Amino acid sequence: MTLTLTNIGKTFADGTRAVRPTDLSVAEGEIVSLLGPSGCGKTTLLRMIAGLENPDAGGQIRFGDSDVTSQPVERRQVGMVFQSYALFPNMSLRANVGYGLKMQKLPRAELDARVEEVLALCRLEPYAERAVTALSGGQRQRVALARAIAPRPRVLLLDEPLSALDASLRDALRDELAELLRRFNITAIFVTHDQTEALAIADRVAVMQAGRIEQIGAPELLYRQPASRFVAEFVGDAMALEGRREGTSLQMRNGAVALPDAGAGHLPYVRAENIQISHTGPVSARVEAVTFLGTHYRVALSGLGDNMLYCTHQGDSAPRVGSEVRLAIPTAGIMMLPRSQESAR
Ligand code: ATP
Repeated sequence: MTLTLTNIGKTFADGTRAVRPTDLSVAEGEIVSLLGPSGCGKTTLLRMIAGLENPDAGGQIRFGDSDVTSQPVERRQVGMVFQSYALFPNMSLRANVGYGLKMQKLPRAELDARVEEVLALCRLEPYAERAVTALSGGQRQRVALARAIAPRPRVLLLDEPLSALDASLRDALRDELAELLRRFNITAIFVTHDQTEALAIADRVAVMQAGRIEQIGAPELLYRQPASRFVAEFVGDAMALEGRREGTSLQMRNGAVALPDAGAGHLPYVRAENIQISHTGPVSARVEAVTFLGTHYRVALSGLGDNMLYCTHQGDSAPRVGSEVRLAIPTAGIMMLPRSQESAR
């Protein structure tokens, strides 16, 4: 089922413009993540797709060829998964998963077969007869997902489904969830404020700010070619490079680096992993702090401009705090981003 939003906006009764008029097309079986800071309008957009909130006049929501804009939530056949599982505590796991199918008045044999299939795919069979109150957080969220998937929804909407789980469970369930959605070929919208989650699960990520989609694209594209400073800083760890432009070189306090070609309205940005500590590097900096993060060290560097820069460093040992290091910043690792947010759109 494809999903098409045309000119969908939301102004609440108190005047809050939660979502500016937005267009979005989601292909059949595609997973699109809405990513953005708190209050940017992600949940409101999701609730309008679900039918829990009416969009402003002039907007249209289509599922495939049918216009569902004025259809109530119960007729839209959407599946929903929330952070707070929202399971029926007095029912067994099996009864929870079968609930939507029962509402659809599916014949008993078909209902049982469908529940078995979903339980197996979600690896929940061993717990099928348990009360949901006797399950762990991760198991409960798998039940919530199974319950949403079982009625074969036209569109599946997920609102921060993993945020209540602890870090390791979240990572495991994240991969499982992506695999399940793909196996069922479900068209899904996944709301999150966690960039790693969005990049890992989605086919395309829509980065939202102040009620607008700033940029939408494949995870690699967003990361490597952010359209604005906001996207660069929100997805990954990007910092402005300070200095004086002289043609295509940037004169920093302690040396110069070569910039990619770009118009005067663009400023150089760099990600921490693209700054390398190297004896032959053209600029020097002072090591202010070193943090060990397992796979790498994160090194805070001063002296390049007014702000601290950070680089990632791999190896058995980190540079000493207080020492001077030389840095290489390869031109290919520098992103030239529009100076103003407006010009990015
Ligand atoms: P979070 O990640 O914190 O859940 P969000 O991106 O999902 O944030 P929304 O919940 O969509 O953001 O809210 C967008 C804006 O609309 C916020 O400024 C919020 O305060 C406002 N808002 C949400 N619901 C209402 C409402 N019923 N009446 C008035 N304003 C609302």
